[in-house]
Amino acid sequence: MANKIRLATTSLAGCFGCHTSFLDIDERLLKLAEVVEFDRSPLTDIEHCNPCDIGLIEGGVCNSENIHTLREFRKHCKILVAVGACAINGGLPGYRNTIPLEECLGESYLDGIGVENPQIPSDPELPLLLNKVYPIHEVVKIDYSLPGCPPSADVFWKFLTDLIDGREPSLPYELVHYD
Ligand code: SF4
Repeated sequence: MANKIRLATTSLAGCFGCHTSFLDIDERLLKLAEVVEFDRSPLTDIEHCNPCDIGLIEGGVCNSENIHTLREFRKHCKILVAVGACAINGGLPGYRNTIPLEECLGESYLDGIGVENPQIPSDPELPLLLNKVYPIHEVVKIDYSLPGCPPSADVFWKFLTDLIDGREPSLPYELVHYD
């Protein structure tokens, strides 16, 4: 096939569970590979997102590097998709929004059980944590959302095959869940 659809994926403040669920499409991956080429993704060695048709984003935004990556995807992907609860509303990591960042860092690096040589990491190589975890739609425009923690393999399959076949994606009721 001459012009394959280019698909990029990334995990921001995610747990890779959404990627794992995507891979649960199992043997349908072979069918997908006939029409889709992967660009930047944890599944490839491509470091930066090139112009793509579809970008799948797992995870919310919790640090400065997440913002950079998300903006790169928005710039290069025609269609950007919030995949999973974390990307859609911050998900479970968003629970830290109820606690001031300084307290979170203190508990992890200064006062926590078993902490030795207490200090908050400050190497400039490390991305700075944001004051809160944000859903990705608060940083860039999002075109579609796939609910679930994670969305099931069938959700990925239905959504992607709709798009690839030129249909407006729609999920049947039984595939829509938020847990
Ligand atoms: S939505 Fe659930 S499975 Fe997906 S990254 Fe977040 S915690 Fe993991």
